[in-house]
Amino acid sequence: MNTPISRPGVAGPALVDPFGRHVTYLRVSVTDRCDFRCVYCMAEDMTFLPKKDLLTLEELERVCTAFIGRGVRKIRLTGGEPLVRRNVMSLIEALGRHVQSKALEELTLTTNGSQLARYAGELHAHGVRRINVSVDTLDERKFRTITRWGDLRKVKDGIAAAQKAGLAIKINAVALKGVNDDEIPEMIRWAHGEGMDLTLIETMPLGDIDGDRTDQYLPLSVLRAELLDQFTLEDIPYKTGGPARYVEVKETGGRLGFITPLTHNFCESCNRVRLTCTGTLYMCLGQEDAADLRAPLRASEGNDLINQAIDEAISRKPKGHDFIIDRRHNKPALSRHMSVTGG
Ligand code: SAM
Repeated sequence: MNTPISRPGVAGPALVDPFGRHVTYLRVSVTDRCDFRCVYCMAEDMTFLPKKDLLTLEELERVCTAFIGRGVRKIRLTGGEPLVRRNVMSLIEALGRHVQSKALEELTLTTNGSQLARYAGELHAHGVRRINVSVDTLDERKFRTITRWGDLRKVKDGIAAAQKAGLAIKINAVALKGVNDDEIPEMIRWAHGEGMDLTLIETMPLGDIDGDRTDQYLPLSVLRAELLDQFTLEDIPYKTGGPARYVEVKETGGRLGFITPLTHNFCESCNRVRLTCTGTLYMCLGQEDAADLRAPLRASEGNDLINQAIDEAISRKPKGHDFIIDRRHNKPALSRHMSVTGG
């Protein structure tokens, strides 16, 4: 049953879906644009949304505030690359006020790190304390091949700047067969040596890319078994509010996470919904169904219409996704790219 909660900033009943899951985590794709073109994520020649279709930063903040009013405790900004949206720091500053008032437990972002050297200090000043940085390889040439446009040295400088500013970092790496699988032990030692967590992610069949995902897909169950030749992995109950399951690597003393949408579907504990930069709300990363929040947002200055639209959307949150990658299903499960919904 929806029960009012008395917490700072919480104005309406909690968001509970038909399966009894409380929605407390909002991911916001602030732009679908990116300064990288990772091969498993985008085609090289992408068509991006016309700028006129985007919610303004003020509108994005209004939607976020409405969600906070309904009990959302964690917001992650993502994209595309969140730090390439012009003036994004004004949104981060505005959302940071909810952290200050304790209405929001955590404001965080997922970034490719290319702009971190410039923004790390401001992020910390606005209340961000942890960020995820995506790094799939430590080999500069391979990094260029995977990201097409990225420069690993710049990303490493960004990571150093973020650590200096006091931000805790988790590295995200998509496990790609024949591309970076041989490097994972080295990446574990590097991340843990630098005091960072590392999370491995299975490739998800989202959006058309130039290649074939079947060739790149590496089940993490296989990788995990291989890691046991070199490392002792102990399951730990550590949780960050996301879908990763963590182990402690005894040899390094660091944490290693596994995000396994394909080998182990994690939908039963899903607490998330995703807002795109055009105001579309996806109740599941792996389903087409979505709700438009832009029209109710623009139809009135008050929050009644948007709250109604949010309630209606949550009442349709599906039980889970059904990603499949195999030779018979070499089409993407969904036509939209990760950069639209936000990873
Ligand atoms: N630009 C930011 C970044 O690079 O982290 C944020 C957006 S990016 C879409 C978020 C995460 O999704 C990255 O870690 C990326 O590697 C991952 N990702 C993108 N496409 C994916 C796919 N098809 N399967 C699994 N992970 C994917």
